[in-house]
Amino acid sequence: MSAIPSIEGIHNILVVGAGTMGSQIGLVAALAGYATTVQDISAEMLARAREQLAARLDATVAKGRLAATDAEAALDRLAFATDLDAAASRADFMIEAATERLEVKEQIFARLGRLAPDHAILATNSSTLGSSKVAPATGRADRVCNMHFFNPALVMKCVEVVRHEETSQATVETTMELARRFGKEPVLINREIPGFIANRLMGAVQREALALAAAGIASREDIDATARTALGYPMGPFELMDMVGLDVIDFIARATYAETGDEADRPDPQVAALVAQGRLGRKSGQGWYRY
Ligand code: NAD
Repeated sequence: MSAIPSIEGIHNILVVGAGTMGSQIGLVAALAGYATTVQDISAEMLARAREQLAARLDATVAKGRLAATDAEAALDRLAFATDLDAAASRADFMIEAATERLEVKEQIFARLGRLAPDHAILATNSSTLGSSKVAPATGRADRVCNMHFFNPALVMKCVEVVRHEETSQATVETTMELARRFGKEPVLINREIPGFIANRLMGAVQREALALAAAGIASREDIDATARTALGYPMGPFELMDMVGLDVIDFIARATYAETGDEADRPDPQVAALVAQGRLGRKSGQGWYRY
């Protein structure tokens, strides 16, 4: 009989990867009251994460949105480590947010499968890899799922919890409840599908926007304005692509198309052309628009 995970059994959280997502997920967990270790193979990334999170907390306190004592307590609950093994042996719940490469994730999940307590749930924040890909390496496939946060993780409310065929009901319920205790609004995806819900919805809107613009039906500016003023979107699809990064949009499209082979998922040649020119969106100063 394998251990049954429960929310009451979660005290120590391990976040693997201290990049864009992992660092903020670590702070989300610490702010929710959990003893949290953020682990990364790069001491430099850990130092940067620590610095950025402390600055972020200072700014939140300065705006009057968080008591200074609560910020201090959250920082006290947050540890940074390069040693995975020690952190793994204490982890009741792991959220993996390491580089988006299957072999990297497989190694992490295999190690956690060996070292984490039996009741621990091992979740991946991956946007494109379903947890069924890493579950076999763990020897505890029933306690493995996707727990997909959105960027910036400190702000965005949605967490997509995705079960694979062997994920147990207790794992799903505990992961959903943990997300709620993090102050998030989790949604459940019953079967793995590339893009989960949010990226599929975003993809559909993007595809239509790209087709309308390419056919000369309307300008990008007017398509974006319509999304904002008629549909109530905070920004239009072209503005959103520029914010996410056209290289990221292209990467997700390629990964999705490679998996589904569906013509509707074929990467857009206009996006690929901009990426080839180094026009990546806001971060490079130019994408669909100039910044
Ligand atoms: P990132 O490149 O900012 O950070 C990845 C971190 O992983 C780096 O600090 C790297 O040093 C570390 N790392 C690499 N190999 C490692 C290992 N073996 N052990 C420990 N740490 C290791 O990446 P990111 O944007 O934070 O994305 C991380 C994950 O989150 C990916 O799976 C991605 O699909 C997912 N995700 C990203 C976003 C986003 O908008 N960036 C949104 C949702 C989900």
